[in-house]
Amino acid sequence: MEPILEVKDLHTNFYTSNGVVQAVRGVSFSLEKGEILGIVGESGSGKSVTCMSILQLLSNTARVTQGEVHFQGKNLVTLNKKEIRQIRGGKISMVFQDPMSSLNPLMRIGEQIGEMIREHNRGMSKKEVEAEVVRLMGLVRIPEPEKRLRSFPHEFSGGMRQRVMIAMALACQPDVLIADEPTTALDVTIQDQILKLMRSLQKEFQRSVIFITHDLGVVAELCSRVIVMYGGLIMEEALIDDLFEHPAHPYTMGLLRSIPGASQDRSQRLVPIPGSPPDMLNPPKGCPFVHRCPYARNICAQELPPYTQLDATHRSMCWLLSPDAPADNNPFKEVREN
Ligand code: SF4
Repeated sequence: MEPILEVKDLHTNFYTSNGVVQAVRGVSFSLEKGEILGIVGESGSGKSVTCMSILQLLSNTARVTQGEVHFQGKNLVTLNKKEIRQIRGGKISMVFQDPMSSLNPLMRIGEQIGEMIREHNRGMSKKEVEAEVVRLMGLVRIPEPEKRLRSFPHEFSGGMRQRVMIAMALACQPDVLIADEPTTALDVTIQDQILKLMRSLQKEFQRSVIFITHDLGVVAELCSRVIVMYGGLIMEEALIDDLFEHPAHPYTMGLLRSIPGASQDRSQRLVPIPGSPPDMLNPPKGCPFVHRCPYARNICAQELPPYTQLDATHRSMCWLLSPDAPADNNPFKEVREN
């Protein structure tokens, strides 16, 4: 597969009155053409900041301090405002969690989608734009698009508003779609409809998608590959089946134990991961998971573990997987082998 987007050693900081928050601390991954890549992690793991950094959508208090983002021969981190605007929307689009805050409550739905189309197709007539709006609304399964394009956002349900956001994101036929928790605010039935819609759109148009979520169940349903983030770093990266069947990192194992499995006995208790995520104002010197990890050794608190490549598509950042791990007894080895 050929990568369409490559992120290399990305570091992003937030400069606050309390100090420097090291939100992303050296993230590298690639997105292949036509794949859906999931990025999963708890709040504050750095997953959304990574994607905001790709498109220069960070607030004024944040800065990418190191790293590169390669897309179509350009390093997006170095582009000026005008250049990145041409990429944003046109080549890489983003769908956010809360459609209500992204839609203008005073503008009709059709006008808002039409604005996106006009922005990147200046020569289109009013009639052509309206026809395209109707086509896009149909594409995202909004019933009676000819009628509903005259509605205002408040006349749409949460699920329908999210469909509008997806239609807007698709308006410029982007090569990459980044969806940041697009189903989190929706109830499970609507969430399922939106996931099905995204999967069918990706299949039909072969778009590359980055899907950010805290929900491993959603990742299992939609993605072909997954990155697990924690403490501003990638803890594990694997093909989806591999991650669920052979998780290699203690944090991934903890996440899997904390979600209900389809075949799980209802009387079986879910096991939450004890403790809380690290303070990114002052992250641990070694492994970011050290204070919550049941297998932590002395070296874990002292040095950041290296990545261990478990096979061509599976890597994990944990001392106990590394050939450089100290030779003392390794309790984790037994757990993995069983
Ligand atoms: Fe646990 Fe150490 Fe592995 Fe971190 S490096 S996940 S603390 S065993």
